[in-house]
Amino acid sequence: MAVEKKAKRPRKSTTELRRLNEISMLDTARYFFDVAAERLELEDWVRKMLRFPKRKLIVNIPVQMDDGTIQNFEGFRVQYHPLLGPCKGGIRYHPDVTVEEVEALAVLMTWKCSVMNLPFVGAKGGIRCNPAEMSKVEIERMTRRYAAEIAPIIGPDQDIPAPDVYTGEREMAWIVDTISMHNHSFMPGLVTGKPKVLGGSEGREGATGRGGFYVAQETLKHLGMNFRDTNIVIQGFGNVGYHMAKYCFDQGAKITAVSDVNGGIHNSNGLDIPKLKQHLKDTGSVVGFADSERVENKDLLELDCDMLVPAALENQITEENADRIKAKMIIELANGPTTLEADRILYERGVFVAPDILANAGGVTVSYFEWVQDRAFYFWDAGTVDHMLKRYMTEAFQRVLGMHLDHGVEMRTAAYMVSVNRVAEAARVRGLYA
Ligand code: GLU
Repeated sequence: MAVEKKAKRPRKSTTELRRLNEISMLDTARYFFDVAAERLELEDWVRKMLRFPKRKLIVNIPVQMDDGTIQNFEGFRVQYHPLLGPCKGGIRYHPDVTVEEVEALAVLMTWKCSVMNLPFVGAKGGIRCNPAEMSKVEIERMTRRYAAEIAPIIGPDQDIPAPDVYTGEREMAWIVDTISMHNHSFMPGLVTGKPKVLGGSEGREGATGRGGFYVAQETLKHLGMNFRDTNIVIQGFGNVGYHMAKYCFDQGAKITAVSDVNGGIHNSNGLDIPKLKQHLKDTGSVVGFADSERVENKDLLELDCDMLVPAALENQITEENADRIKAKMIIELANGPTTLEADRILYERGVFVAPDILANAGGVTVSYFEWVQDRAFYFWDAGTVDHMLKRYMTEAFQRVLGMHLDHGVEMRTAAYMVSVNRVAEAARVRGLYA
């Protein structure tokens, strides 16, 4: 296994560590931005400009529910400065969505697009709601009203939304329909992650998992390992977790544990992923799968394995559990799964982390391909999409790995350095416009 070259990070006092662990995902993104800015010796005005997004929109969405009552939902769209091209990022429906979370995710999208060399900066949207307790018609009314409210600031050249947590093709189709109807013209380039019949791309659905698989492949190569000798634990078995599991399983890796919101399952000899997918379809959960034992979601992260893949929500690897994580490598398919303090612990313990802005960028990369296809009204076959995705993921991994090895910084700082450098270059040549 390759020996990781380590840069010294200053030790922090216990009080400061406690404070660091309490800080939010947004502060974590800002912290790594500051570290990268310092190392890149960015000019003060560039730092000040890049540290904050351009716009935060908060909208109120009154929806008539099926029982006739009216409920108000709060919706958000946050956009970064469009220095490299239009803004890009998903829309999430979740009871815990806040404007701060959406802002953090928009900032992360900026660094994600930049590290991948895409002509986009970040954006993110969200509605605070619980789609699990809403009917399809209620979700449709809410989606269309939200689309109408954010219409003035989105568009194929301005800001292109996409799916995120608890949204998918269905919601994207409603958004295309709503805005196309308002504009009296069909606008497929308005969102990505659409159904294929409306201009969606081949390979978009499994793209985040497929991209994560390529990052895992490069990580294993770097560490002198291969899929056949690798045990993998995956937290989350939604679209992202499932596709990651499937592609690694197909290459001979042992997926020893997975989980969903109902809990986790474990089999040290490996789970049969196609059979598990069927079980999920039949029962609605991974729990209860025949050849497995139950494991609590929190214990799953600490299981013995080579590769840990958080593919659910943020803040899962924390100061509390980072010391007990046994994996040699972590492939972050969720956005922001590791807190700042946990990140430091993992680094000191020599765990190789493929950071979220690199590891889960497969989704937005195929979104970029979808947008390109929509602009040309010329559609690629599945093989072309996959070939291009592999190229983008592998090249981005190598850029970040090169920075990591050359500067002796951990992979997350390396990814931020690659990414911030590109946005800063654009800011420099465009200027502040003030
Ligand atoms: N929601 C995905 C992400 O966080 C995809 C965004 C997109 O395709 O624009 O990366």
